[in-house]
Amino acid sequence: MATIEGFKHHARKSYTLRPVELRIADHLDVYQPLSVKEIRIQASRCMDCGTQFCSWGCPLGNLIPYWNEHAQNGDWEEAYRMLRLTNNFPEFTGKICPALCETSCSLSIHHGAVTIREIEHTIIETAFKEGWVKPRYPKMRTGKQIAIIGSGPAGLTVADELNAVGHEVTVYERSTEVGGLLRFGIPNFKLEKYVIDRRIELMKEAGVKFVTGVEVGTDMSVLKLEEEMDALVLTGGSTIPRDLQVKGRELKGIHYAVDYLSQYTMSVHGLEIEGEVISAKDKTVLVIGGGDTGSDCIGTAVRQGAKAVYQYEIMPKPPEKADVLMTWPTAANTLKTTSSHEEGAQRFWSTKTHEFIGSEGKLRGVVASSEDGSEYEIAVDLVFLAMGFLHPAREGMIEALSLELDQRGNVATDKKHMTSRKGIFSAGDMRSGQSLVVRAIHEGRIVARDIDEYLMGDSLLRG
Ligand code: FAD
Repeated sequence: MATIEGFKHHARKSYTLRPVELRIADHLDVYQPLSVKEIRIQASRCMDCGTQFCSWGCPLGNLIPYWNEHAQNGDWEEAYRMLRLTNNFPEFTGKICPALCETSCSLSIHHGAVTIREIEHTIIETAFKEGWVKPRYPKMRTGKQIAIIGSGPAGLTVADELNAVGHEVTVYERSTEVGGLLRFGIPNFKLEKYVIDRRIELMKEAGVKFVTGVEVGTDMSVLKLEEEMDALVLTGGSTIPRDLQVKGRELKGIHYAVDYLSQYTMSVHGLEIEGEVISAKDKTVLVIGGGDTGSDCIGTAVRQGAKAVYQYEIMPKPPEKADVLMTWPTAANTLKTTSSHEEGAQRFWSTKTHEFIGSEGKLRGVVASSEDGSEYEIAVDLVFLAMGFLHPAREGMIEALSLELDQRGNVATDKKHMTSRKGIFSAGDMRSGQSLVVRAIHEGRIVARDIDEYLMGDSLLRG
C-alpha cells in the first residue's frame, strides 16, 4: 500500500553531477542518478493530488501519480506499463526534458517538487534492463504506405505509432544517422547516443524502415514520393538558425552553434566531418545566446580544451528565485545554471554585440555593450551563434510541394495536421517552430492518430 505523506518525512533529493574535473575529461553523461532505493523514497513524496497539475503541465499528459505509486512500491513493471501508455520514448524525456511537470507539481509551492523526471528515467532504464521494452509488432498489415521525412523525435514517434497499427512506414533522413537533434544537436554529455540506437533497433525489428543519407526534395523527388505513398509526414525540424548581421559577420571563426555541436558529436563517434573542422582547443570562445543551445556549446568548448569561454545574453539577468505563488503551475523566469556553466564559463547579461573585428579575414574580437550602453572590446578567436531557429528551410521539399506557411514561416496545417496539400501532414518543430523534445513526441502522437483516421476512417491510437 502506498503512502501519500512521504513529503512530510523526506525532502526533495535529486541527481548529483560527476565532479567537474572528471566529466570534462570525457564525453560521457554528466549525471549521477539516485539509487533505486532513493528513487522509491522520492516517489513516496507524491501526494496523489485530486487535480493532477503534473499531468496537466506535461505536454504528453503523463500519468505521473499512477507511476509514482508503483515506483514507490517497487512494482517497476506496472510503473513502466503506465508510463508507456502516454510516452513513446521516456528514455529521451527522462534525461533531457526541462520537466514542465515538476514546475506544475503542487509540492513545488512549499516543499520542492517530486523528482518526476528521475523517477521516469529509473522506470524506463529498469524496463530496458529487465527486457520489458519490446518491439511493437503490428497485429496485421493494412497495406498503406507512409513516408516520414525527418527522423527527430517527432518523426520517430509518428513512425512508432503508425507501424504499430499496421501501416508500412519508411523514415527518410538526410544525415548519415537517425535521431535529428537528439543525435546531432544535444551533446553526448547530456544524452549518450546508445540511448537512440537501442530504440532504433527495436523499431527496425518491429518493421519500421530507415533510409539515411537522403535529402528528400533534393536527392529524391518529393513529388514522386507523394505519388507512390498513401500519406507523407514532414518532420524536418526548424533548421534555419537566427543570424547576427553586424559588421564583420563574414570573418572566419564565426559559426552557428548547431554546426559546431553536430561536428562535436560526429568527432566523438569517429564519423567523417565534411569541410572545415571547428575546434575550440586553446581558443578564447564567445557564445552569443544564453539558452540551452548556448550552454551545450560551453560544455563542448570546455571539453575540447578552450582557453576561456564567455557567454553573452541580451536579456537582463533573471532573479535567482521567484514568488512561486505568482506563477505556479507555470514556470517562472528564474536564473538557470546548467552543468556546463559550472564547468567554467563567464556569463554576461544585458549584453549586445555590435561588431566583429578581425585581421586578414580572421576573427580577433568583438565590440559589445552592457546595460549602461558603454561599448568595450574583447579579444576572442571563436564565436558561436546560439540565438535559436527561425523556421524550416524553404528550398527543396517545401518549395517543390508549394506548401502554405504560417506567419512565422513554419509549415501551416489544419486542425488535423494536414498541410495545404491533401495527404501530406506535418509535426514537430517544422510545424510548431523551435520547441522541446516532449512537445515533438506529443505532436507525433497526435499526427499519427490523424493520419490513421485519414487512411482508415477511424483510429485506435490514443494520440
Ligand atoms: P529535429 O530533431 O530537428 O529533426 C528533424 C530531422 O529532419 C533532422 O534529422 C534533419 O536532418 C531531418 N531533415 C530535415 N529536412 C529533411 C529532408 N528534406 N530530407 C530528409 N531529412 C530531413 N529539447 C529538450 O526538450 N531538451 C533539451 O535539452 C534540448 N536541447 C537542445 C539542444 C540543442 C543544441 C538544440 C538545437 C535543441 C535542443 N532541444 C532540446 C530542442 C529539441 O531538440 C527539438 O525541439 C526537437 O528535436 C524537435 O524535434 P523534431 O523531430 O521536430 O525535429
